[in-house]
Amino acid sequence: MARATPARLTVLSGPSGVGKGTVVAEVRRRHPDVWVSVSVTTRRPRPGEIDGVHYHFVDDAEFDRLIAKDGLLEWAEYAGYRYGTPAAAVQERLASGVPALLEIELQGARQVRARDPEAQLVFLAPPSWAVLVSRLAGRGSEPPAVQERRLALAQAELDASGEFDVVVVNDDVARAADELVDLLTAPPPEPA
Ligand code: ADP
Ligand code: 5GP
Repeated sequence: MARATPARLTVLSGPSGVGKGTVVAEVRRRHPDVWVSVSVTTRRPRPGEIDGVHYHFVDDAEFDRLIAKDGLLEWAEYAGYRYGTPAAAVQERLASGVPALLEIELQGARQVRARDPEAQLVFLAPPSWAVLVSRLAGRGSEPPAVQERRLALAQAELDASGEFDVVVVNDDVARAADELVDLLTAPPPEPA
């Protein structure tokens, strides 16, 4: 029986507020066939977020159980909460030839690279620092103290953008989504 060629894993990272969720939503709108992993997190849902759609919202004990049974492809603590990628769903999609996209922060992207050197790492960058600050504030989903915490992490994330294979600037959602779709569907580079 013919087997599907395993597809490539793409990771999208970038500082909080840069527009990762917005760009990924646009990619899904245009290409419902692109599969996007739903992460597990210990943070509480924001208004409008749906369990099982935006995240699987779990408590600390459940997150500990997932780590103990090696159920996470990667995980990291970010701004006081834990976030992780359920491994089985990603592995199934890739094995059946469907390109998979993870939207995760920097420490997780590094773990994916260490586990899968073929993975494609894409960094979504803001047009400027001032634009990033105003997008995070404009979203209005976190109190100012939490925004400050996220901006402190954002500086370190921007400094690490050179570790990524590609940098996409999110000046315009449609254009950034186009670039990401091209990257998701591009054939992997020939082995050296
Ligand atoms: P992230 O998922 O990276 O934390 P979001 O997708 O929540 O970021 O976007 C943060 C805010 O910036 C939202 O209010 C969103 O509407 C806005 N935004 C995202 N991309 C753009 C863009 N290209 N131009 C203007 N505003 C944007
Ligand atoms: P938020 O709380 O804004 O939804 O996400 C905070 C940060 O966690 C973002 O940078 C987001 O990309 C990242 N994140 C979401 N899911 C995961 C995950 O499964 N693993 C890791 N390492 N980071 C994640």
